[in-house]
Amino acid sequence: MPNIENTPASIKNNDGKTTVGQMQTTWFDQGDRLKRALQRLGFFWLLAAITIFIPIAHFVLVPGFLIAGPVVSYITYQMCWVRDHLSGTCPTCDEKMMIKLENKDTLPKWTYCPACNAPLHITQPDNHLDN
Ligand SMILES: [Zn+2]
Repeated sequence: MPNIENTPASIKNNDGKTTVGQMQTTWFDQGDRLKRALQRLGFFWLLAAITIFIPIAHFVLVPGFLIAGPVVSYITYQMCWVRDHLSGTCPTCDEKMMIKLENKDTLPKWTYCPACNAPLHITQPDNHLDN
């Protein structure tokens, strides 16, 4: 079972005003990582099988998907955690916001408020030192 962890994150705007939000990270155990890796391998090899029927393009697509399958599945297997999203309140416009994070996002991170477009600086809160 993937384990969802919420960690506090400090959201600061350019005026130095700070709010505290929650950053959600999903952790995968050994079984989840294997399952996700096999799903990706199956998906790419299925694409390879489907693209056999596309004339001319199959000379590129079929070997491409056959090679991409193990590569993507290896990269997926190496992933122990992925970032999901950051939720909190914008320090500039006080709107509730949810920002989608990239898989490998780390703090500190610069982003923009989806409501007012203010630049935001996401950092670990000062009292959160165990990461
Ligand atoms: Zn805002």
